[in-house]
Amino acid sequence: MAVPHDLPLVSTIAVGLSLAFVLGLIATRLRIPPIVGYLLAGVVIGPHTPGFVADLHLAEQLSEIGIVLLMFGVGLHFSIADLMAVKKIALPGAIVQIGAAVGMGAVVAHYMLDWSWTSGAMFGLALSVASTVVLLRALEEHNLLQTTNGRIAIGWLIVEDLAMVLALVMIPALAVSSAGGDALQGSPLHQLGVAGVKIALFVAVMMIGGKRLLPWLLNVVAQTRSRELFTLAVFAAALGVAFGASKLFGVSFALGAFFAGMMIRESSMNHEVAERALPFQDAFAVLFFVAVGMLFNPAILWEQPGNVLMATSIIMIGKSVAAFMIVMLLRYPLKTGLLVSASLAQIGEFSFILITLGLTYGLLPEDGRDLILAGAMISIALNPLMFYGARKAYEYASRHNRLSQVFNMHDDDLAHLTAVEKQTLRDLVILVGYGRVGKHICNNIQEAHIDLVVIDNNRERVEALREAGFHALAGNATHEETLEEAAIRKAVAIVVAVPDTFEARRIVQAARILKPEIKVLVRAHNDKEMHYFEEQSVDLAVTGPREIGRRMVEFLNGMQTPPKQSGAH
Ligand code: AMP
Repeated sequence: MAVPHDLPLVSTIAVGLSLAFVLGLIATRLRIPPIVGYLLAGVVIGPHTPGFVADLHLAEQLSEIGIVLLMFGVGLHFSIADLMAVKKIALPGAIVQIGAAVGMGAVVAHYMLDWSWTSGAMFGLALSVASTVVLLRALEEHNLLQTTNGRIAIGWLIVEDLAMVLALVMIPALAVSSAGGDALQGSPLHQLGVAGVKIALFVAVMMIGGKRLLPWLLNVVAQTRSRELFTLAVFAAALGVAFGASKLFGVSFALGAFFAGMMIRESSMNHEVAERALPFQDAFAVLFFVAVGMLFNPAILWEQPGNVLMATSIIMIGKSVAAFMIVMLLRYPLKTGLLVSASLAQIGEFSFILITLGLTYGLLPEDGRDLILAGAMISIALNPLMFYGARKAYEYASRHNRLSQVFNMHDDDLAHLTAVEKQTLRDLVILVGYGRVGKHICNNIQEAHIDLVVIDNNRERVEALREAGFHALAGNATHEETLEEAAIRKAVAIVVAVPDTFEARRIVQAARILKPEIKVLVRAHNDKEMHYFEEQSVDLAVTGPREIGRRMVEFLNGMQTPPKQSGAH
């Protein structure tokens, strides 16, 4: 084979990423979510299909880095208070959902597959925990990461993660004690106690030490003004804490990284830190999907179609119904129930760990592994469909009076202007993006007494703006609904001050559809972008460098200089 087998790490990354890129691109072209392409890339380079076989073990490790960076990124936008704010729903929700999955798995496996109750319970447990990567990517894609519902889903995931940490120490102890052996292992309860104490210790160490140490360290590094060292510090913090936490305290990598991020959030540098980690998160998260594809054995689809359907139904329907019911019982809004159910209707990395454990201790038959892996593959590929279904169900309920009376249709407050604001605002200017550029616009425009409505997808910024007395709402301005919420029909101008040109283009398009005559001002980065916008006949496109040059020339022109000597140029 032409691929050098002596460099398995390089070839796994190179072939994995390249093929994922090609198939992801094709999928996108066919209007299928790109993750389907990534998963297929994994199947192609996996051991169950002919041709090049990448190193599965390495692929799994690389995806672990993806999980660490993703959870670190989430931590950067999460405070302990945010976590506490969702505990009332996340805690009972996750516990009930895990319980339901274990119950369903045990019953179905016992009666359909003739397995023992213990094997069935193990099977159900593996079907119960959602994947961090899938969840976070889905939330990000639907712009839910920083919404209340997104936070509930993340809190839920963290409870699941904690439950898994406990399960992972309990299962060996239970297996050994039920086999009547090894007193040295200690009783299951003893193991549980030890694990609980370790988690508590980890949290305490992070809250007391990490909260001071990590921001301090970043500050010191920032003062060196070395970009390289700063990037290194970010990675060292994420991976170092994750690794240390798992070695010293037995918590998962993901949880360790989440706490590291959360502690850094306390410093003022969390935006810079997030910027450094972001591109790597994407690349490694893609390798996660490739690894899942590699694990999948397509033969199971025609060998045991009924059982695959059963496992997938537990993940996608059974778990969702359980989650939905508990959210409704706790009287949360319909939208919360639908979104949380959709986002958790998949399984991933924890299930793979449980499979290995189950096989090692003889708690899971070989068949179980392939069924769980098939369930993971299918539920991940179909996850975007669940979000689509959730949106349609919500729309259906809002249109039908009887349903909207039964359910709590209340939505996220930060995403709307108040009724009074909607009524009183006139001839307003919409500003999209309260960042480096938006900040200046905001302050100066206020002085000119223009009604201004700010849209930003960063909720923290919207909260701060509202506290300062501005009209602001949280949402993604590329969506027409968000622009409608910002009363675009009554606006005279829209200022697009986001850094990403593709986003800016989409915002301009959406604004023009809703109000063709609106004046459009955009931030561009270079002359090429500026010309593009001018071709689209936006009213004003501005680039930083050009403006800097213009101001400098203005200054020079205004300077008192001695008259030029004749003949000199
Ligand atoms: P900066 O990168 O400092 O210029 O900040 C840009 C701001 O725009 C940030 O606060 C982002 O949250 C916000 N932003 C970026 N894209 C969008 C979008 N599509 N809709 C709303 N706000 C956005």
